[in-house]
Amino acid sequence: MPFGYHGCYLRIDVSKGTSEYVPLSAIVLRQYLGGSGLGVKLLLDEGAAVMDPLAPEAPLVFAFSPLVGSPLTTSAKFAVVSKSPLTGRINDSLASSGFAIAGKRCGCDAIVIVGRAADLSVVVIDETGVRMELATEYRGATCRETESGLKARLGANYRVASIGPAGEHLVRYATISHDGRHAGRGGSGAVLGAKNIKAIALRGTQRAEWANPDELTTISKSLSKRSFGPATAKYRELGTATNLLTFNRFGALPTRNFQSGTFEEAAGLSPEQLSTTRSKTRESCVSCTIGCEHIYSLGSGSGVRVEYESLFALGSLCGVSDADAVLRASQRCDELGLDTISTGGTIAFAMECVERGWLDEPWLTFGSADALVRAIDLIGSRQGIGNLLADGSRHAAEAIGHNSIDFAPQVKGLEIPGYEPRALQTMALGFAVGARGADHNRSGAYEVDFSDKVDRRHVTLDAVRHAIDTEDKAALMDSMIICKFLRGVFDDFHAEAAEMLRSVTGWDVSAEELRETAKRIVSAKRQFNLLAGWTPAEDTLPERFLSTPLPNDPEASLSRERLDSLVAEYHRQRGW
Ligand code: SF4
Repeated sequence: MPFGYHGCYLRIDVSKGTSEYVPLSAIVLRQYLGGSGLGVKLLLDEGAAVMDPLAPEAPLVFAFSPLVGSPLTTSAKFAVVSKSPLTGRINDSLASSGFAIAGKRCGCDAIVIVGRAADLSVVVIDETGVRMELATEYRGATCRETESGLKARLGANYRVASIGPAGEHLVRYATISHDGRHAGRGGSGAVLGAKNIKAIALRGTQRAEWANPDELTTISKSLSKRSFGPATAKYRELGTATNLLTFNRFGALPTRNFQSGTFEEAAGLSPEQLSTTRSKTRESCVSCTIGCEHIYSLGSGSGVRVEYESLFALGSLCGVSDADAVLRASQRCDELGLDTISTGGTIAFAMECVERGWLDEPWLTFGSADALVRAIDLIGSRQGIGNLLADGSRHAAEAIGHNSIDFAPQVKGLEIPGYEPRALQTMALGFAVGARGADHNRSGAYEVDFSDKVDRRHVTLDAVRHAIDTEDKAALMDSMIICKFLRGVFDDFHAEAAEMLRSVTGWDVSAEELRETAKRIVSAKRQFNLLAGWTPAEDTLPERFLSTPLPNDPEASLSRERLDSLVAEYHRQRGW
């Protein structure tokens, strides 16, 4: 067995209350590494692609990685992998916290959960083994309430990942939360909720050994030092919202359900402005030297973690300029356990349907802060219109009819993040072909758009290889796992990634092998989707983006023919 691993996964059947450690071969670990890669491999082996993701037999995988627990900065991450109840396709959500370290110390490289508990329960894993305890007193509790309640019950040194009310109500974009962080996209919270599992609580003592601890220490020190440099300065100073005003200037800030790429009141949502009127603290994920997290005060002692994606989705996308309301809405999503991108995208879509007279909810209008917060609460409890919106914009469009699917802001059912595809056309390709749907974390193609490699509004076939490179790199980072905000600090990412893995695992792994590993992982996701019923027609964007130029920037225009040719070239270069 290689160093850095335990060589097994823990499979828990919550219907029966049984568990077993299942061996993982060294070959599988080398081929899929961990995180997203290992999670997808385990799902394929479980036959998950053809299952209903909310059925008891559907597996939910918490996958750790070889680097977790090492001194490498930003490595305390894990992936939650399942078939998505929102898209019906592969879903891998990543998150950082002590849960990753505690999970790996339970003596396994992944935890696979199948079955459905008879009543709302918590899975407890510690040195005494695996057990289930009733969690009915946490029914309807927020993620934070559940976490603090379970720590009071079990002990402060347990690490807890839980669902909020949204997960219990099977909202198709419910999150799994832990320590204020979220495995956010694609509805893994609903998958856990369908198993009647409110939380997983972990405490472990088994450490994996490193192959070459001295070399690992040297690499870690060098990486930490470089992580303080200019490549990450903007994230430290202003957080992930650092580019909000730049996006607005480029016409790339999605506004009023993608009807515009500029928001006239964007300045009020910018981190520069937010920090002039509110107190702010900075935080880091566990084991991170960058610290991109900015927590803004909301008065009465509460605060909210502010991310670009939340500001765009609950702000400009819904036409809401009241910064306090946007921060409150983001906090409410965190409490209920809702993905902010899909929440904002689905509400913005509903607002446009109301505007067109296709949805009889006259209160639900663009720009209304009250409507935003009310809609979030209705979604979290599946009450009233919230029951429809809890299924996401694609399902809602199917129910509303007319031609609303043409402007439902989604790909494969996953709501589009805050990058206007007509203004950022390499990203448009990345969104169209994304295995889990429209996704800025599995494709970094927007970086290509902001480089001198392409003309972002007139992208040609030459952009395809760049889009593939960013997708492959993301697959590798998500499987090793390290934070993508490190990407700017590497001179030669693949060579340095190989160095890290050599010192942790003892494998004689090369940069070239890791390039092949990344492609294998991307292909495994595609294989999952093929088995789940994927067709080429899914690799596209909604009609709005292919027939209507951006109003304020007519040059930002993307035709169906051009996107189709980019997608065809992508498939050709992938060899699919
Ligand atoms: S850079 Fe930000 S997201 Fe990445 S590990 Fe550090 S705090 Fe977490």
